[in-house]
Amino acid sequence: MSNALVIIEPGQDAASLLALVAPVADTVAVAVLAGPGGSASAVAGAASTTVLQADGLQAGEAAAAVVAELVASHGAELVALPATARFREVAALLTGRLDAACAPDAIALARTADGLTADRLLYGGVVIGTFALQRPVAVVTATVKPLADGAAPAGGPAPARAVTAAPVAGKTLTGRAEVAAEGGLANAERIVSFGRGLRAAGDIELIRALAAALDAELGCSRPIVDDLKWLGLPHQVGLTGTTVKPRLYLAVGISGQIQHLVGMRDAKTIIAINNNPSAPIFEASDLAVVGDLYEIVPRLTAALAARSA
Ligand SMILES: Cc1cc2nc3c(=O)[nH]c(=O)nc-3n(C[C@H](O)[C@H](O)[C@H](O)COP(=O)(O)OP(=O)(O)OC[C@H]3O[C@@H](n4cnc5c(N)ncnc54)[C@H](O)[C@@H]3O)c2cc1C
Repeated sequence: MSNALVIIEPGQDAASLLALVAPVADTVAVAVLAGPGGSASAVAGAASTTVLQADGLQAGEAAAAVVAELVASHGAELVALPATARFREVAALLTGRLDAACAPDAIALARTADGLTADRLLYGGVVIGTFALQRPVAVVTATVKPLADGAAPAGGPAPARAVTAAPVAGKTLTGRAEVAAEGGLANAERIVSFGRGLRAAGDIELIRALAAALDAELGCSRPIVDDLKWLGLPHQVGLTGTTVKPRLYLAVGISGQIQHLVGMRDAKTIIAINNNPSAPIFEASDLAVVGDLYEIVPRLTAALAARSA
């Protein structure tokens, strides 16, 4: 028996979430997160609809705590929430709280031999990715519509229950760092970018010298920012970094995984230096230089310096 929980707020139509979970759930319970005195109609097709009334449920943390309790009391293995700003936050907090799997913006769910899977549109809808949700609980979000004005209520009024939303400690924004100016990658004409092919933080000076010789901005792959912490996020190129479109993109010691490529493949000319002749970056490159960056980069910098002298 597989139980799903659909979460909405008053005024939202749960139909798309019900349709999403229907292929994989035996029973679906709907919970409507409302303020004190809030109400909603029973949702057609759901085993139950409950209106939860509480002060403070607008706070993501408080809502996530209430939903986590519902997951436990329903024995739910799947929670579907609207893909709105409010519920995206709740979904993320709930995922952390339950150590769950999470599929934001899911378009279809299925049950396979490997368990629950979710289809999601990727790269602006060009590709559908299928993700295995391999945790006891899965959290998904999907698009919902508002209830049509004047639409006949699907059922009678749903029973309401007062719940207590845990108070959430306030957070104060004390300042805003001007990070965008630091990297300046988005509008750069030339970029020299490096990746994990570089062996030590001190070796960045080799790349900086080449960038200076080309009057180029300094870019990098994600591990340089996330794992090694040699540079800040404004230097990262790619899916979770900056998308760039320079006239020249020089990739040094970068393998060319798709998450990097989507951020730089629109560069006019791409040159890659890599000691692995099969590196995927070469497939996206106009000029492939196969060799050791520690030999090639200093020679290239010297040649450029000699030309401008
Ligand atoms: C959700 C998600 C988002 C992501 N977002 C981004 C993103 O925005 N940007 C990004 O870059 N990545 C991103 N990634 C990570 C991405 O999948 C790759 O792991 C990452 O791009 C690899 O970085 P790299 O090429 O520097 O390292 P590696 O893949 O380790 O490649 C290092 C390369 O250096 C070469 N090399 C080694 N030594 C030398 C040498 N002496 N001379 C020449 N070449 C050498 C190797 O042959 C290899 O090709 C993301 C991943 C996920 C899951």
